[in-house]
Amino acid sequence: MTDQPNLDYKIVLLGDSSVGKSSLVLRLCKGKFIENLEPTIGGSCVIQNIEIGEREVKLKIWDTAGQERFQSLTPLYYRGAKGALIVYDITNSGSYKRAKEWIRELIENGEQDAKIVLVGNKTDLETKVVEDITAQKFADKNGLEFFTTSAKTGEGVSQVFFALAQLLVGKN
Ligand code: GDP
Repeated sequence: MTDQPNLDYKIVLLGDSSVGKSSLVLRLCKGKFIENLEPTIGGSCVIQNIEIGEREVKLKIWDTAGQERFQSLTPLYYRGAKGALIVYDITNSGSYKRAKEWIRELIENGEQDAKIVLVGNKTDLETKVVEDITAQKFADKNGLEFFTTSAKTGEGVSQVFFALAQLLVGKN
């Protein structure tokens, strides 16, 4: 592994407030779930290493610290981000509509070649209103990968970050 180039990427999480962005990061990095997570707890940047075959990919994961609630995100947030998870809550149709706006915002403000994965979170809840097939069709049409997750149970979470890491190293 020593002669491999540095595989070090900034990625950002985007999506409406309360869709579960911080909870997804907490689940990935710490393997736990906290009901009513305080916005500041999950905020900021954490580093997670993911193995893709023989290579180790370092993801520098930026979370918004609740900033999206009050104002649009600063250019600094998007700057240098090679990948993004666009997250919505499957029980909140407004958050799904907004996910499309977050994608537009990323395209306008972010890096040209940023890789995007669409994530429908909270699959553990039974009050789903956004059908997977709807999001899947949108993702297919726009060349995005799509996953569903539960930060609460952990379902699908590592797969999402793994898929993004694979896209970043160009392995699919
Ligand atoms: P953020 O504002 O997008 O970072 O959202 P948070 O991670 O703070 O989560 C908002 C709320 O949704 C919190 O009360 C979380 O406990 C809850 N939450 C997050 N992910 C899930 C999930 O997968 N399932 C359920 N049932 N609740 C979740």
